[in-house]
Amino acid sequence: MIDSLKGTYKLNDGKQIPGIGLGVFRVEDGQEIYDNVREALDIGYRHIDTAALYHNEAGVGKAIRESGVPREDVFLTTKLWPLDFERTQDAFDESFKKLGTEYIDLYLLHWPGVNEDLRYRAWDTLLELREKGLIKSAGVSNFMAHHLEHMIEKTGVVPVNNQIELHPWHQQREVCRYCRANNITITAWGPIFHGHLAEEPLMTELGEKYGKSPAQVTLRWHIQNGIIIIPKSSKKERLIENTELFDFEIQPDDMERINALDGKKQLGFDPLVFDGDLRGIK
Ligand code: NDP
Repeated sequence: MIDSLKGTYKLNDGKQIPGIGLGVFRVEDGQEIYDNVREALDIGYRHIDTAALYHNEAGVGKAIRESGVPREDVFLTTKLWPLDFERTQDAFDESFKKLGTEYIDLYLLHWPGVNEDLRYRAWDTLLELREKGLIKSAGVSNFMAHHLEHMIEKTGVVPVNNQIELHPWHQQREVCRYCRANNITITAWGPIFHGHLAEEPLMTELGEKYGKSPAQVTLRWHIQNGIIIIPKSSKKERLIENTELFDFEIQPDDMERINALDGKKQLGFDPLVFDGDLRGIK
């Protein structure tokens, strides 16, 4: 468990990943993402989570370059969309160029997709990129336990990280168990209910009890579970709020009450069937 914004977890390839990062899904490229990332870096965030799909890699890269923070002090993640598994090298080159950085810290297969052969080919290309030093670490996202198990059996390489939908309503116990048993760090996407925080009264109730906000209680629950968090906010005061998590501790009985919310709602796609085709989806 980390004990400050600077806290890191060790990856199974020996690298370190900061336990708190900034998520930037749905932040527009250009000035908006630039200001968001610069503000976060000024506050002390040292981990930024983007993806080719977010169409804001150029602004993320520019903000990091111009921040004055040494590149080696920032942990930068981006992701490969499953429809690009057939053209992984080209898709990587595009992300790399937009980010304008010497290397990417963590490159993830964004979803498993539904074609196993393509998935493993894409994974092989990630491993080549790692050999070349263009990415430091290779990981996955939205993988269920069996996706991980098959890929590890087939390729012999254990991803360093699995980024999954994880919040009190969707606790993903099976895949979390698998990751812990195999030394794969877990990152929660949608850590504060993917925009639905206000719909869960327990977080407000516990916030009042601990003198913290509902978001802080939710993020602290993740931290006490050893989960990496990448909350998104476009507001400076919330960027700060989302880091003030180390002056209180949720008691075991309250952790249990949050645990009991599991199963209420999955907010993202189903990794078993989602192939990456977003046509017709808002
Ligand atoms: P989050 O759980 O981070 O929730 C973000 C929402 O919460 C925004 O509406 C934000 O609004 C609001 N919010 C932020 N801070 C607070 C606060 N302190 N109090 C109240 N509301 C708050 O959802 P995301 O889906 O953005 O997930 C985080 C990141 O995970 C993404 O940005 C992305 O990087 C990654 N992700 C990865 C996916 C994957 O498939 N691998 C899928 C989805 C996301 P506001 O901005 O107005 O503050």
